[in-house]
Amino acid sequence: MANRPRIVLLGRQGSGKGTQSARLAAHLGVPHVSTGDLFRTAVRDGTALGRRVGDILDDGGLVPDDMVIEVVREHAARRGLDAGGYVLDGFPRTVVQAEAYFGTDAALTQAGHRPDVAVELDVPAELVLARLAARRVCPVDGWTTTVEDPTVEAVRCPDGHLAVQRPDDTPEAIGRRLALYEVETGPLGPWFAAHGLLARVDGTGDPDVVFQRILDELEPFLDRSPATTG
Ligand SMILES: [Zn+2]
Repeated sequence: MANRPRIVLLGRQGSGKGTQSARLAAHLGVPHVSTGDLFRTAVRDGTALGRRVGDILDDGGLVPDDMVIEVVREHAARRGLDAGGYVLDGFPRTVVQAEAYFGTDAALTQAGHRPDVAVELDVPAELVLARLAARRVCPVDGWTTTVEDPTVEAVRCPDGHLAVQRPDDTPEAIGRRLALYEVETGPLGPWFAAHGLLARVDGTGDPDVVFQRILDELEPFLDRSPATTG
């Protein structure tokens, strides 16, 4: 296939971005590229960059822009990211990262990495808070679920471990992460919009319904991409 879709998914933590990214990638037959996975791979490979990333993640910090860009560029060079298409999940996180990878000219064609569309999953902060407060994660294998009753402290994962609330899923910590998102990632919506590449999607409600909304919003962007029309 000559023209594989290149899609960026934007959304607050708890917006369902990870789930929808994976589903969309499978649906379109392109790789789901999550920066979380890229970081874990870099750490596992034990490269100099991976060790620096590992130290930051161990301290619970955010990987700085220049290192994120390096990790993504390395992956892009090794795997032919652009030619193979993608659903990017977690990158870019800032306008600095977006400009470093996609370019700064109006058409974003300078670096040759122009995405077809950035989908912004729109979920109100209050709803995200409630979703994250109800999240239970298995510390052994990462299995994640949402409990109906947020007073339930732990549930069993399919392998029988106890899935619990992550220490950084307290309302205070969630509030801090949401505020950070507004400052750091919030400007990416307008940035993609200025390049004519933003599709906003209502991320509330049933995940199946949200997925269909994403597909509907994507269609005109994928139809008009140069390689399919020319
Ligand atoms: Zn488990």
